[in-house]
Amino acid sequence: MKNWIVGNWKMNGSQDAVTDYVPALLNGLAEFTGWEKSARVVLCPPYPYLGMLARALIGYPIAVGAQNVSAQPQGALTGEVSPHMLADLGVTVCIIGHSERRRQFAESDDFIGEKLRALLEIGLTPILCVGETLAERDAAGHMDVVRRQVLRATEDVSAEALARAIIAYEPVWAIGTGVNATPEQANEMHAFIRNLLDERFGAETAGRVPILYGGSVNPANAGALMSQPEINGTLVGGASLKSETFLPIIEHSLT
Ligand code: PEP
Repeated sequence: MKNWIVGNWKMNGSQDAVTDYVPALLNGLAEFTGWEKSARVVLCPPYPYLGMLARALIGYPIAVGAQNVSAQPQGALTGEVSPHMLADLGVTVCIIGHSERRRQFAESDDFIGEKLRALLEIGLTPILCVGETLAERDAAGHMDVVRRQVLRATEDVSAEALARAIIAYEPVWAIGTGVNATPEQANEMHAFIRNLLDERFGAETAGRVPILYGGSVNPANAGALMSQPEINGTLVGGASLKSETFLPIIEHSLT
């Protein structure tokens, strides 16, 4: 399985930033001969920049992802964007269930499950984010929370479809805080998630789903995180905003 390195720009960026970022990233990647054999790089800018980024990356092995999507195909849903619209722009990946959306927009596990199914139905790759708060970890409830998030969102999904999805474990206390989960903490949760998938979908499917770690990944900690057997890549927020910090994270993910 290739390692996935996914940059989540959140609500940051501009047309100028995209214009500067693409050549810097491509020039940096050109230094890592054969990088595309062991890594899959995805950039997730805000909606308005998806089209221009996808056009700029035509012909390069770098995917473009969205940070959210509607589960509905069309209709009276002001402000929403459908899976087909993303595909129409050349987007192939989409983050769903990010903790910022769960918290600030009250997204439920069932609602996130609808998005998961809608993306899989039209062949886009969902990155389902799960993860506990600090209070939940302190109360030793982190496994229960992640179990619920994974199992509820993947209800009514076939094994064949789930094998085309990605899961990102992102402890809420590690996102944007500068405090990452230790490689051992992350690996333990990834193994737990893999086991949940095995129980529900079977070992073959469980073995095909990349499980990424996200939460304050940076050039200094990426190598140790990536050395863990159950970590198949990283979802990177702040450190993906500049190619100078994103490139060394990619380099640490090459095998
Ligand atoms: C994220 O936004 O998914 C994230 C992990 O952010 P950061 O890397 O900044 O913690």
